[in-house]
Amino acid sequence: MNAAHAPLPAAYAVLIAAWKRVSLLGAVGKLLGWDQEVNLPPAGAPHRAEQQTLIAGLAHEWRTDPKIGDLIAAAERCGLPPDSAEAACVREMRRDYDRAVKVPRPLVEEMARTHSLAVAAWQEARKKNNFPAFAPWLEKNFSLARRYAEALDDGAGSYDTLLNDYEQGLTAAALDPLLGRLREALPPLAREAMRSRRSPNQDLLNVPFPKEAQAAFARDLTSAIGFDFTGGRLDESAHPFCSTIGPGDTRLTTRYSGRNFKEALYSTIHEMGHGLYEQGLPPEHRGTPLGEGCSSGVHESQSLFWENLIAHSPAFWAFFFPRLQAACPALASARLDDFLFAVNKVEPSFIRIQADEVTYNLHILLRTGLERDMFSGRLPPRDLPGEWNRRFHDLVGLDVPDDAQGCLQDIHWSVGAVGYFPTYSLGHLNAAQIETALRAEVRDLDRLLARGDFSPALAWLRRNIHQHGRRYEPADLVRRVTGQPLSPEPLLAHLREKVRFYYGAGR
Ligand code: ZN
Repeated sequence: MNAAHAPLPAAYAVLIAAWKRVSLLGAVGKLLGWDQEVNLPPAGAPHRAEQQTLIAGLAHEWRTDPKIGDLIAAAERCGLPPDSAEAACVREMRRDYDRAVKVPRPLVEEMARTHSLAVAAWQEARKKNNFPAFAPWLEKNFSLARRYAEALDDGAGSYDTLLNDYEQGLTAAALDPLLGRLREALPPLAREAMRSRRSPNQDLLNVPFPKEAQAAFARDLTSAIGFDFTGGRLDESAHPFCSTIGPGDTRLTTRYSGRNFKEALYSTIHEMGHGLYEQGLPPEHRGTPLGEGCSSGVHESQSLFWENLIAHSPAFWAFFFPRLQAACPALASARLDDFLFAVNKVEPSFIRIQADEVTYNLHILLRTGLERDMFSGRLPPRDLPGEWNRRFHDLVGLDVPDDAQGCLQDIHWSVGAVGYFPTYSLGHLNAAQIETALRAEVRDLDRLLARGDFSPALAWLRRNIHQHGRRYEPADLVRRVTGQPLSPEPLLAHLREKVRFYYGAGR
């Protein structure tokens, strides 16, 4: 029986209405967060923190109202077919509710206030390369992360608990072999590229390209792929992100560099991938778990699919390079092959979001190890810079010149997102595995990309991933879509092929 054709039980409808009301309040909080990163003058930070605290506390009170618990229990009893979308929705609401009720409201409020103030402190500290000014906030955030994890898992306070905020079902024990394989395979691949006598001309990316023209090109490119600007925006922020405030309101941000246009270009494409996922979630389930992305690792797979696997490919630029040249006259006499090699350069670097595909995951290994040690208490947060620099040298082989290009570069720990970084690696693995499955079905993908037809690829993602929201748990979704459990091998095969293509002796 298909629940879509039977009238839905009243208990389910009442639960959905109550849940959507809580989501609406959450959306107000998201708007405050977006505004803080895009518009807020620095002196407004303390008042914004009070606003965020109020909304977070209220939303928590509404979400953990025993009446919601009663409605979930009633919906569980009302005979929804076990494999229906509605049953999956109730399962996810049960999971969210049971987690939320374990966290006391004062802790939720303290986290909201501290994260809001810490992000403002981080913005200043990063700008002024002043780690000591940020250190007390880092201490506070890790101590809050510990209290939060202890509340959730009855005192154990494990890192797995934090991972589960972002990736349902993930454990450090399952993560370690995946990251271990990357740790072993990536450095030799990076060395292979570095040893090659071939090297791209990076000057191509450092040509004059005014910010307004970059933004116009980014808008042209993302619209052509399928991002809907009637339900979206593109703005600037210190750290690029994508935030969906609600239906018809998905906002992307990017950051422009005066030196190199590649950073804004690929940040925008990355956030667009998140935005396409958000715009592809089922409208009828908005405000419920089925109207949300499956997990951070799956969300990252959607951004990285477009950023790395599509927008670094020769077929993609066969279509877009002439448009880029029209938008940036300084590239008028550049050759497509030279541009492709320049954007695909493999070279160890300091900034995670500018890293190439081969060395990127080394940045994640670094952060995952450091946050686990700060979370467990093995590494006092005030000692982060020295430890960051030492491990960065071991992993990437470079000496970090200053904290702005080291431990202050990312926003995550300032907003208390501890346990998030590993989902970037999962995103890379998922993206490569998903791309392999997509190419097996959309056989002429490169020909389509080269003529600017992105709709078959996007439709495939919509059908296989976007439309399901949180209906399947992340590991199940990946298995359903690709026929395999998550593996590092498709990513490593893609990277080996790429290094051979650009740096191999035969070229
Ligand atoms: Zn992302």
